[in-house]
Amino acid sequence: MAELDAMLAAAKSGASVARLPDDADTPNDAAADAPPPRSYAPEEQRCGLIAIVGKPNVGKSTLMNALVGQKISITSRKAQTTRHRITGIRTQAETQFVFVDTPGFQTKHSTALNKSLNKTVMGAIGDVDLILFVVEAGSFTLADAKVLSLFKPGIPTLLIANKLDRVHRRGEIAPWLRDMQQRHAFTEFVPMSAKKRDDIQRLLGICAPYLPQQPWFYGADELTDRSEKFLASETVREKLFRFTGDELPYTSTVVIDKFEEEPSAQHGRFMRIAATIVVERDGHKAMVIGAGGERLKMISTEARQELEKLLGAKVFLEVWVKVRSGWADDAARVKSFGYE
Ligand code: GDP
Ligand code: MG
Repeated sequence: MAELDAMLAAAKSGASVARLPDDADTPNDAAADAPPPRSYAPEEQRCGLIAIVGKPNVGKSTLMNALVGQKISITSRKAQTTRHRITGIRTQAETQFVFVDTPGFQTKHSTALNKSLNKTVMGAIGDVDLILFVVEAGSFTLADAKVLSLFKPGIPTLLIANKLDRVHRRGEIAPWLRDMQQRHAFTEFVPMSAKKRDDIQRLLGICAPYLPQQPWFYGADELTDRSEKFLASETVREKLFRFTGDELPYTSTVVIDKFEEEPSAQHGRFMRIAATIVVERDGHKAMVIGAGGERLKMISTEARQELEKLLGAKVFLEVWVKVRSGWADDAARVKSFGYE
């Protein structure tokens, strides 16, 4: 690592500092490095907004989940699963980090959906204290350049060179960083891997000084300002796209029809949730259901298991599939009980 240290030191210029990752490969587990509890008076507190921006698939959601320390945004191998602006919150010592995850900037098509995605990106980065511009280490494409071109000048921007674990020829990183320095006045370079816990801790330390001294916006133990109902629809949505691969159009949505908590002496918290996957065509419906209903069953089971963890509850989940154009359609339904 000393070698890479030296190369990166050579690549830096001006006020930019390359912060280096260790080689330690540790799971993301925020609880393990929680600081000893101590309270901070409002005048000691620091708090600010951090946008996580980049083209699809560079690891924005993975990064935010790791920074927050719990899975709250949705990740998938497929691009564009994050359609909404999602915030994640991490409070560590006197600093509260409020993260904004953004949909990747669409460059291929300009449908109405893509236009609204682009607006979300711009809305998200206009009013933040710090931008984390995420790219894949060693790569910079036209799509990256388009996202970068949206940034208003004046907001400190860190270049997050993610997926460093995938770069086998590390000697190529120094010249690449020099090239990146020519493209934009990045405040700092951070080569790292969103999947390494030490890198995540280091990144939190790098971000903290950019946040203004002001009282926290949220409670110290809050993780997101999204509702549990929203998390439920996003979780079903993630499983839907994970199990249908690239076959299903992104116009498919998930609607939560029922989200109820029932008193249950036996199991503590018990949630009854009904979700409807709304697709465009009969063919898509068949795709979601799969042979003998197997695929819908997998979607439903995995969503239920994840929701039980996210909500800290026993979950009874029903998932229906409907074709947008035909409500009279026989809706396929899968129930996923909280007991198996
Ligand atoms: P987003 O579209 O930018 O939100 O990207 P995601 O967070 O959904 O990640 C896209 C893919 O990259 C997923 O398969 C992640 O597991 C993977 N990924 C994210 N960060 C890293 C990393 O640091 N190293 C490696 N090897 N894969 C990563
Ligand atoms: Mg994402």
